Amino acid sequence: MHPETIAVHAGRHADPATGAVTPPIYLSTTFERAPDGEYPQGFMYARNTNPTRQALEECLAALEGGVDAATFSSGSAAIMSVFQCLSPGDHVVAPLEAYTGTTKLLRELFTPWGLRASFVDMGDLAAVEAALEPTTKLVWIETPANPRLGITDVAAVSALAHGIGALAACDNTFATPLGQRPLTLGADLVMHATTKYLGGHSDVLGGALVAREATPLWEKIRALQIMGGAVPSPFECWLVLRGVQSLPYRMRGHSANATAVAQFLSEHPAVATVYYPGLPTHPGHAIAARQMQQFGGMLSFQVRGDLAAAMQVAARVRLWTRATSLGGPESLIEHRASIEGPGTRTPDNLLRLSVGLEHPDDLIADLAQALG
Ligand SMILES: *Cc1c(COP(=O)(O)O)cnc(C)c1O
Repeated sequence: MHPETIAVHAGRHADPATGAVTPPIYLSTTFERAPDGEYPQGFMYARNTNPTRQALEECLAALEGGVDAATFSSGSAAIMSVFQCLSPGDHVVAPLEAYTGTTKLLRELFTPWGLRASFVDMGDLAAVEAALEPTTKLVWIETPANPRLGITDVAAVSALAHGIGALAACDNTFATPLGQRPLTLGADLVMHATTKYLGGHSDVLGGALVAREATPLWEKIRALQIMGGAVPSPFECWLVLRGVQSLPYRMRGHSANATAVAQFLSEHPAVATVYYPGLPTHPGHAIAARQMQQFGGMLSFQVRGDLAAAMQVAARVRLWTRATSLGGPESLIEHRASIEGPGTRTPDNLLRLSVGLEHPDDLIADLAQALG
């Protein structure tokens, strides 16, 4: 089935009790046992599972082409659950440039806990291969990656990981399953911050993991989700499930608008460099064109000049909103280095854009006046 159809229907069933077409939000924390002590509907207690969460997990597994999905209270909780499945002494290969939260989790939480991590340029396959050790259990991929939309060859890096018996996990938040399906490219796990495009309206925090196969590791992730309890509420699950229905059409709009904005910026004299995987000048363009169906709504650019020049552009926008995060209908502009904090590799003059669903001409006109 096509993703548009999956997005509308997967996980959704008319409510047997009332015939309601839109699934209700099941707030009940507990479920009745039959006289024989069994749970006839399979539900027992809401931390373990509940009908709204189950519907969302069914939907996300179908969208990514996986066998099962587990949802979490945030994208970070989903990432953390993968690292928690490893043991002290295990080694992880992670990207040099990626979502800061992922890097921070590895450096500040899991290195003291006993994991060892090597951070490499994932665009350099020889560097990835050189970083692999006998104790490497996981290679973490993010593509396109923060903040320069770096592209990783998911098939090639997954094959390198598998060659030494390690797993490959891919943060698919920027691309969404409409942009690429990492499980079909060879990754074992897909991670999402459902906070972003899947929720799609900047009003819900959530995370998800999707598995290609039901392995012992997947059983461990499921156990961590249930025992650790970093689960999304039924209302949050319902919001994401609702958001996903329009995801395929929103992503077309985000991608088309981002392409137009990237084109405009790449021709502007006040702009030094534009990072958008859809531009033939982007270093990852050839791989992105091969593994992605569309290039998504995220891009970044370096203003000609220094920190002050970039801050001035961000200060002058009227239609764009100065804020972090991404994936909502409203366009956002963000000075990325200052949110990432000290020690960041992000250039001082870089602005990250989450291109929304407004008319591209209005977005471009506002950037034009802000760039002066
Ligand atoms: C936002 C984000 C996360 C973390 O998700 P939270 O819901 O904020 O915890 C992880 N990866 C990427 C690429 C993100 O954009």
